[in-house]
Amino acid sequence: MTEKAAARIAELSEQLHHHIYQYHVLNAPLITDAEYDALLRELQTLEARYPQFALADSPSQRVGSDLAVGFDKVRHPAPILSLANAFDEADLRSWEERNRRLLPAGASLGYVLQPKLDGLAIVLTYEDGVLTRAATRGNGEIGDDVTANVKTIPTVPLRIPVAADAAPAPSRLVARGEILFHKDSFAQLNREQQAQGLPAYINARNTASGSLKQKDSRETAKRQLSAYIYAVVASAGLELESEKQTLLLLRRLGFNVVSDASYCASLDEVIAQLPAWEARRDALPYEIDGLVLKVDDLAQARALGVVGKDPRGAIAYKFAAEEATTKLLGLTIGVGRSGKLTPTAQLEPVFIGGVTVSNASLHNYDQVAALDIRLGDRVVIKRSGDVIPYVIGPVSAARDGSETPILPPAHCPFCNTALIQPAGAVDVFCPNPRCSERVLRTLEFFVSRGAMDIEGMGPQTASALIAAGLIKDEADIFSLSAEPLLELEGFAEKKVQNLLASIAAAKARSFPQVLTSLGIDGIGATVAGLLAGAFASMQDLQATAAAIRQAEAHFADIVTPLLADAAADDPAAATLIARLQQPTAALAPRYLEAADLPARLQRLLRPLQLSAEAITALAAGLKPLIEASRPLHNIDGLGPVLVANIVAWFSDAHHKQVLAKLKAAGVTMRAEEKKQAGSVLQGATFVLTGSMSAPRAEVKALVEAHGGKVTSSVSKRTSYVVAGASPGSKAERATKLGIAIISEEQLRALITGD
Ligand SMILES: [Zn+2]
Repeated sequence: MTEKAAARIAELSEQLHHHIYQYHVLNAPLITDAEYDALLRELQTLEARYPQFALADSPSQRVGSDLAVGFDKVRHPAPILSLANAFDEADLRSWEERNRRLLPAGASLGYVLQPKLDGLAIVLTYEDGVLTRAATRGNGEIGDDVTANVKTIPTVPLRIPVAADAAPAPSRLVARGEILFHKDSFAQLNREQQAQGLPAYINARNTASGSLKQKDSRETAKRQLSAYIYAVVASAGLELESEKQTLLLLRRLGFNVVSDASYCASLDEVIAQLPAWEARRDALPYEIDGLVLKVDDLAQARALGVVGKDPRGAIAYKFAAEEATTKLLGLTIGVGRSGKLTPTAQLEPVFIGGVTVSNASLHNYDQVAALDIRLGDRVVIKRSGDVIPYVIGPVSAARDGSETPILPPAHCPFCNTALIQPAGAVDVFCPNPRCSERVLRTLEFFVSRGAMDIEGMGPQTASALIAAGLIKDEADIFSLSAEPLLELEGFAEKKVQNLLASIAAAKARSFPQVLTSLGIDGIGATVAGLLAGAFASMQDLQATAAAIRQAEAHFADIVTPLLADAAADDPAAATLIARLQQPTAALAPRYLEAADLPARLQRLLRPLQLSAEAITALAAGLKPLIEASRPLHNIDGLGPVLVANIVAWFSDAHHKQVLAKLKAAGVTMRAEEKKQAGSVLQGATFVLTGSMSAPRAEVKALVEAHGGKVTSSVSKRTSYVVAGASPGSKAERATKLGIAIISEEQLRALITGD
């Protein structure tokens, strides 16, 4: 056992030395910080048990250093300490327990809790209120002088106090803080990198560190770095009593202080807050890797002292690691219902946040190319919350030259059809609707619960039927017969009977369920219900989609020649051109109630400098499209993109065939007759707004059951606007148009005739 420990200690020491060199000297880490911490922790544990095997140059003796060549060295006025780590509640409790033993019995311990910013430590010196020096943490004793670079960071005050009327700053103040990228600034930086064809940065902290170590401060200035200040290292003439007071002072002097620090009167209070913090993590503007807990009373903190390089009065509570590195072994390619190809990374299994991960999403091939991910690369994997683990990017420094580029295939791996990438799309598609994989995925969805809900049609059965050539699309399941099924392996008499019975039963599924099962992009059960409420039959929907397609084609005939010499390099013009090319989603819904369409178009399209005749022609072409699409646009809860998806789905030749087959098979193709309770509201059109005593859909059903119509937007055709609590702009519009506004009670009175 002890022999093993000695060998492991030697092995860990060697690994850590290598990683320290990679990280601090080459600035090219091979593993994540969490992985580094885990190695170091294992070493520290072993060394504590077997101190006789600890090496003289053990990396555990070493303080992290970010010193780089080419910078003047600065000695800090007091050691810039690091923090011991806690990984769970038990660690925190034993930390407090140890502290209590060093303090007078019965001492009450309050804490300041703040996010642990994942940035780069910085030490700022102000003399008579003027920033005279900024240094990195370095090895804790000596840091690099990066004053010129830090001065370019807008959140670092060059003079304190920032506010002219604030109390003056102490004659000398050395403050400690953190330099980092806000998440959005880092994303912006990477967009700029990509625009220039440069590889994306992977790790925000390393990038912040690199930005601060630029030889030319103009380069630092280009990066949008932020600074947060949280501690006083040394001062002249300041008598601070608590952490709380320190943060207040720093804020008063004009430093950027995290707004999320809180005071907790006990450790229990701190522990109660941990889950909420972990849940908030992703929503914060900056990356954090845990929380910092400090004993609030500075006299107590001083009494506790320092062990090694860690003050006893503070501790870092680390969240479960979300990132880890591992090897990219291979790729599997999936093809979805829509034909979209999704590359998935096959990984050497790696433990992240309590789970072993061996597959991760690579998003799409554009992303793979942008990040320059290669087969055989070491890659950083992120697993955060409920999101599917994904590959953040390659560890370029770990390459040995054996890695091979990943290129999208030219042909579908399932049906060998040439793949397409539509203009402007990041995804690659198999365009073949009869592709075996697409049919399988479509069928899986078609028979699933909530859709046609066909029992006994699991993925294995579906694959077997497709492989045997019995099914070429989802509608084919309704023409299955017993004989060929019985010939398949594993299909016994009883199984076949049950399957055919559940298929037969599915023909009677409700109209909304049938609509859901079509798998139109974005149309789930809720939207299918809305559609079934507005369209009595599949035929009505098909007719509406066809009319819209026809009007779109007519409009395109008008638009195309007008745009032939439009200046598409002007961004405003390009946006308008894109709109004109998607009139159903981007134009029609805006002008449903437009009284003077040519004038409205004239205003919208001004940047395109079209002639008056052109505007008149466009308006004349748009009018029929508006009318054709009105039944869809008028459905409350159906956005313009969904409308476009519906039109695209019903216009597709393959889908038309499938629908015809479903209809021929006797599948439900129309909504149930609505039971008419009365007709007192016959001929009246209502718009509902504000919150009512019952769900909106229920009130709508009530109106319709009595012969009334409900639409989503207020127009001259509206008879009444029914306003519930806190009605919105619809009520305003009604007032403007002089349309009667009634309450929900008045509506019910209309129905009952009271
Ligand atoms: Zn295919």
